[in-house]
Amino acid sequence: MSNYGIHWFRRDLRVAGNQALQSHWKANQGRVLGLFCFDKAFLSRPDFSVNRFQLFIDSLYELKMELRELGSDLLFLDVGPEKSFPKLIKALDKQGQLPHLFTWNRDYEPFARKRDRAIEELMMDFGVPTETFRDHLLIEPQELEKSPGEGYQVYSPFARKWLEIYQKPDIQRRIQMQKAGLSYLQKRLKGDVAPVFNFTWEELFDGKIPFDDWLEDYRKKNQEKVTVPIPPAGSLNAFKKLKEFKRKVSDYGDQRDVPILEGTSQLSMHLKSGSITIPQIIAFFQLKAYKKKKTGEDIFLSELIWREFYYHILYRHPRVENEAFLEKYKDIEWENNEDRFMAWKEGKTGFPIVDAGMRELKSTGWMHNRVRMIVASFLTKDLLIDWRWGEKYFMDQLLDGDLAPNNGGWQWAASTGCDPQPYFRIFNPWLQSKKFDPQGDYIKKFVPELKDLPAKQLHEPIENHPTYPRPIVDHSEQREKALALYKFEQA
Ligand SMILES: Cc1cc2nc3c(=O)[nH]c(=O)nc-3n(C[C@H](O)[C@H](O)[C@H](O)COP(=O)(O)OP(=O)(O)OC[C@H]3O[C@@H](n4cnc5c(N)ncnc54)[C@H](O)[C@@H]3O)c2cc1C
Repeated sequence: MSNYGIHWFRRDLRVAGNQALQSHWKANQGRVLGLFCFDKAFLSRPDFSVNRFQLFIDSLYELKMELRELGSDLLFLDVGPEKSFPKLIKALDKQGQLPHLFTWNRDYEPFARKRDRAIEELMMDFGVPTETFRDHLLIEPQELEKSPGEGYQVYSPFARKWLEIYQKPDIQRRIQMQKAGLSYLQKRLKGDVAPVFNFTWEELFDGKIPFDDWLEDYRKKNQEKVTVPIPPAGSLNAFKKLKEFKRKVSDYGDQRDVPILEGTSQLSMHLKSGSITIPQIIAFFQLKAYKKKKTGEDIFLSELIWREFYYHILYRHPRVENEAFLEKYKDIEWENNEDRFMAWKEGKTGFPIVDAGMRELKSTGWMHNRVRMIVASFLTKDLLIDWRWGEKYFMDQLLDGDLAPNNGGWQWAASTGCDPQPYFRIFNPWLQSKKFDPQGDYIKKFVPELKDLPAKQLHEPIENHPTYPRPIVDHSEQREKALALYKFEQA
């Protein structure tokens, strides 16, 4: 067996702080190769999004360039791992070049867990040792238990336990270890990095790689279909975003709910691809455990914990992918009116704050968290449409679309989830808009036909506008209907 390793990249598209790469680097003196395997079936998955795929594939391209700069490379295979890995391993076996170690970082989605188990067995059959690492989450779902074998269902006790574990020396050590990765990124920003790896696929296959590397092709073809501006991708750009957020983090508590202020980090899309991770963010801001949330930093940390919470729920209760977490709300008889759903998607409901959010989503691929909560509540409790329709549409449009937090956010808003918004607490879109966009700046940015109206008029039904619609429903009436619907299911 030759002394080199292969790392299979999935949702960890970065070098900095990637523990699996470090482990290879130590064990194989820098002889490590990157592999990415793209399953074409992914293109027809119901949660596939052309725009998000572009961001992902751009991130992958950045990673390839980075690995090359560092003396390694990334091979992009466009056949699913179950088919392409046996081919690859057989080819390597034939030339007596099986890798010394095959690694990947753990994924927590039901589909990925099943796939990974199969790959582990496959590698075992070929006698290739595998090792998996923690990467995507700081504290993994199996580490957080309320009682033996039982996870959490409510955020507050989950966060308390999370913060307790967070202070343990081995977690703090893990965070401290991120500092080397951050200083590497800082150097990279200045163009000041030297190669650390010393092996390439070309070398391994003596100049003739028997697999097509399709990355450029996919990137170009997909680019033609993209419908929103794709932000700069990859770990260096994620790091730049992190640095930009440094001047905002202390005001996070005051500004995070005001959509026009752009007071949040906008890191979610990079977290999704693993161009950045929660441990890196924590190390960068040196976030401390809190007892009571006092500072912007505390509140920011509590939001990062929400992310880990939703992963915990998905891991512990994979059924939430398809059904309500709360059994009693599994069979709500939603009205599911197609015309109203269309008006919601198009941002033509006659509720300016909802329309602004939906138009922000369609034109940018992102939406502010407060507005996500407003439009999700509106879809389920005002339009009485199944939260899964909204969840799916979000997955179609969001650049940060991610099963665990998206499902969690939707089920929270629809009051069907773990730790949900109680069903009787229904957002009033008029009051939400008045509170979080009092001057109507956000509304006017995304619903320009309203730009000349006085702010006050944006928080109440708009009559007689030449192009902007009247409200498609009456909030008070729909509220009563929603209450009846949920009460009925509870009975
Ligand atoms: C209906 C609905 C759908 C959502 N869908 C997604 C999704 O598909 N992908 C996604 O990453 N987030 C989703 N969220 C959570 C949240 O809206 C986004 O994470 C946040 O808006 C991203 O912006 P940011 O990076 O500037 O966040 P910041 O405010 O800067 O927060 C930092 C990070 O903390 C995490 N975070 C913040 N708020 C939440 C939250 N409420 N739940 C879970 N994690 C959170 C995110 O990873 C975020 O990047 C959804 C929320 C709702 C209500």
